Amino acid sequence: MSGIKGKVVVITGASSGIGEGTARLLAEQGAHVVLGARRLDRLEALVADIQSEGGSAIYQQLDVTDLEQVQAIVQLAKKEFGHLDVVINNAGVMPLSPLDALKVDEWNRMIDVNIRGVLHGIAAGIPVMKEQGFGQFVNVASIGAYAVSPTAAVYCATKYAVRAITEGLRQEVGRDIRVTLVSPGVTESELAESISDEEARQLMKEYRREAIPASSIARAIAYAIEQPTDVDVNELVVRPTASL
Ligand code: NDP
Repeated sequence: MSGIKGKVVVITGASSGIGEGTARLLAEQGAHVVLGARRLDRLEALVADIQSEGGSAIYQQLDVTDLEQVQAIVQLAKKEFGHLDVVINNAGVMPLSPLDALKVDEWNRMIDVNIRGVLHGIAAGIPVMKEQGFGQFVNVASIGAYAVSPTAAVYCATKYAVRAITEGLRQEVGRDIRVTLVSPGVTESELAESISDEEARQLMKEYRREAIPASSIARAIAYAIEQPTDVDVNELVVRPTASL
């Protein structure tokens, strides 16, 4: 099945930014979107909005660090809509800081959400997709998956990991299941709000001045999903034009 219409798409981290923008675009194009994140009020409002415009959306509270919760949202998608076309592993956090600030809890949170969260999405999706004989993962990495910068060592490490896992997954299951890596550059979202380190916060404020809207990344994701099943878009990097 090519195109977007009728596809069942689970999106993690759908309560703001890129996940929200992707939910809106895919629903507009006729997908059934199944939205997960921790902030239920956001998801409820988003689903109401999508439905009021004639779209098909449901939501469930989701913490991607908990495998059972990720499995539960994938099962919900299958139960409600009969099958599962795509899992978009988008949830992520970015509390940047220099390593010598020793914000070990924040390192662990990035590892838990950005790496384990993606692995949980893969673990939840593979059995369903293998049984059906089709499916697609879209994993959201970052330009931080290609280069490291000060204050971003751990964040970049998590995104390098997402890139490595995605390529490994493609090589292993790619015969039946499509695997796509989408790496955004600076994009409007709430991502930088979790930065507790003052130096990193100031650096990011400057760096994030030129941002593209979340809908730009949503279009890249939609492009990968809408291809015919024999076409697998492996990797897309999408930056603001003015970025180096
Ligand atoms: P936002 O902060 O706006 O969105 C992040 C989303 O992840 C939110 O919906 C948040 O929802 C969710 N989330 C965080 N922790 C968890 C968790 N434990 N379980 C489930 N959901 C969680 O930022 P973006 O939209 O920018 O981020 C989306 C992805 O894009 C991330 O992977 C990020 O690393 C990546 N990215 C973003 C770039 C940018 O410039 N914006 C650049 C490169 C990559 P809630 O808090 O409700 O759980």
